[in-house]
Amino acid sequence: MAKRGISILKGIEAQTVTTLLNKAYADEWLAYYQYFIESKVVKGIMKDAAITELTQHAADELRHATLISGRIIQLGGTPLLSPKDWFTHTNCGYEAPEDADVLSILKQSIKGEQCAISIYNGILDITREKDVITYDMVSTILADEVEHEEDLQALYDDIHEFIAEIKKNIQ
Ligand code: MG
Ligand code: FE
Ligand code: FE
Repeated sequence: MAKRGISILKGIEAQTVTTLLNKAYADEWLAYYQYFIESKVVKGIMKDAAITELTQHAADELRHATLISGRIIQLGGTPLLSPKDWFTHTNCGYEAPEDADVLSILKQSIKGEQCAISIYNGILDITREKDVITYDMVSTILADEVEHEEDLQALYDDIHEFIAEIKKNIQ
C-alpha cells in the first residue's frame, strides 16, 4: 500500500472510495459483457452500424474496468475477485438482451448509460476536493459515458426515422 499517495486524501477514507469504486467496477464488467453479447446477437435493420457502436463501447467499458481496478489498488483495496461478486455489488445491474431487435438493444443500452452517468456524477460529488486522483479519473470515464449515451440515442433516432420513412413510402 502506497502510504504517501493515500495520505493526500482530504476528509475521506480510502475505504469509502474503494467501496464506491468496486461497485462501479462491477458495473463496468457487466456493461462490457452486455455490449459484447449484444454485438453478437443483434438483429434487424442497420444492424451493422449498431455492431460497430456496441463493439467500441464494449472496449471502452473494459478500459474503464482497467482504470478503476488500478485506482482501487492504489487506495489499498482489492478489486472484486470473482464474477459472482459483480451481481451483488452492481449499481446498474445487467439486462440480458433477450429481445435481439436492434431498437430494443439500443434502448436497453441507453438505459445502462443513463444509470452509469448518474452513478459517476454521484462519485464526483463525493470525491470533489477530497480525492483528486479518483475525481479526475471518474471525470474522464463520465465523459465517455455521456458520449456513449449520445451515440446510441442518435443511432436509435436514425433507425426509428428510417423505419417511419419506409412505412410511409409503402403505404
Ligand atoms: Mg460510440
Ligand atoms: Fe464505462
Ligand atoms: Fe458506457
